[in-house]
This record gives sequence, C-alpha cells and structure tokens, in this order.
Amino acid sequence: MADCLFCKIIANKIPCAKVYEDETVFAFNDINPQAPVHILVLPKEHYAGIHEIPPQKTDILKKLFEAIQKIVAEKGLLEGGYRLVVNFGAKAGQSVDHIHVHVLSGRDMRWPPG
Ligand code: AMP
Ligand code: ZN
Repeated sequence: MADCLFCKIIANKIPCAKVYEDETVFAFNDINPQAPVHILVLPKEHYAGIHEIPPQKTDILKKLFEAIQKIVAEKGLLEGGYRLVVNFGAKAGQSVDHIHVHVLSGRDMRWPPG
C-alpha cells in the first residue's frame, strides 16, 4: 500500500529501530513506547486486520506468532511477562491500518485495558 506508514518502514523508506526481520515478518520498536519494552510485530504483506487474511494466506499468522516466540525469548521477556495487543478499528484504538501486534513488557499491567 503506497500510503501506508508501516509499508514504508518495511520498505526502508522511513527509518525505524528494527528488532527482527524474516521473509514474512518485520518488527521494530514503537516510537511512542507505552512500557519499557514496546515492540510492534507485523506481517510484511499489507492487511488492515487479522480477519482480512484469506484462508490461503493464513500461514502468515503462524509466521507472525513464530516471530513473536523468538522475540520474547531473545529480549528476555519470559520471566517478567509480556502482553500482546492487536487493535482493529478506530474505536479499538487502531491508528495505523496495517496489522501489528504490540509486544509490551517491563512493567506491571492492569486489567481490564482501557
Ligand atoms: P495502533 O494505535 O494500535 O494502530 O498502534 C500504532 C502504533 O504505531 C502506535 O503505538 C504508535 O506509537 C506507533 N507508531 C506510529 N508511527 C511510528 C513510527 N514511525 N515508528 C514506530 N512506531 C510508530
Ligand atoms: Zn501497510
């Protein structure tokens, strides 16, 4: 998507603090962190929401969560715990229309989320 901020980051047209990359998945630090660790993990292919991925492409979801497995282990988040968040739609707090999993860690979290 030509005007998608995260597509531009993936294409190296906008800088980021990259955390992880493979052929399907890209991850970088959130520019406005909401916790000591705040990483965004996203599929390289552009979809606005998880439900938009067609049945023949759902391998992307497996690769996305396999990348998260590696990131939480490599970043040492297992002992302190971590939270995964995916917002869809403005009412849920989505501001960038490209699927991204927030990986939050390094502080106590409250529930329910706001
Ligand atoms: P959401 O509100 O769930 O769509 O999450 C979008 C996230 O992208 C927010 O947490 C922003 O802080 C983050 N963000 C926006 N622009 C950038 C950027 N240029 N680099 C890194 N993170 C960004
Ligand atoms: Zn995109």
